[in-house]
Amino acid sequence: MARGSVAVTTERCKGCGFCVEFCPTHVLALSSAFNRKGYHPPHMIEPDKCSGCNLCGMYCPDFAIFGFKTAETKPAAIPAATEAPAPSEAMEAKEV
Ligand code: SF4
Ligand code: SF4
Repeated sequence: MARGSVAVTTERCKGCGFCVEFCPTHVLALSSAFNRKGYHPPHMIEPDKCSGCNLCGMYCPDFAIFGFKTAETKPAAIPAATEAPAPSEAMEAKEV
């Protein structure tokens, strides 16, 4: 499950591919689409592998991409099962 994502400002991109090369989990590829300057901006090809580390953003010379962490999607640790009190015990506890 993805723990991060990226935001791309496609019109700033000059298609250098640094973000693609330096992503440690190979999330990105250059798109076949062109921006208005005639470059191919990156897009996510493996979004589930993004950690939100922002290495892509640190290497981008044009501030055209940045990575960010998304909300934790794993369920919280479930404590060991405990027996629920019997209904009569629960009632007594309330009355005290
Ligand atoms: S935030 Fe990290 S894992 Fe996600 S695309 Fe950028 S470099 Fe890759
Ligand atoms: S590093 Fe920046 S300018 Fe280069 S391809 Fe990626 S987004 Fe575009």
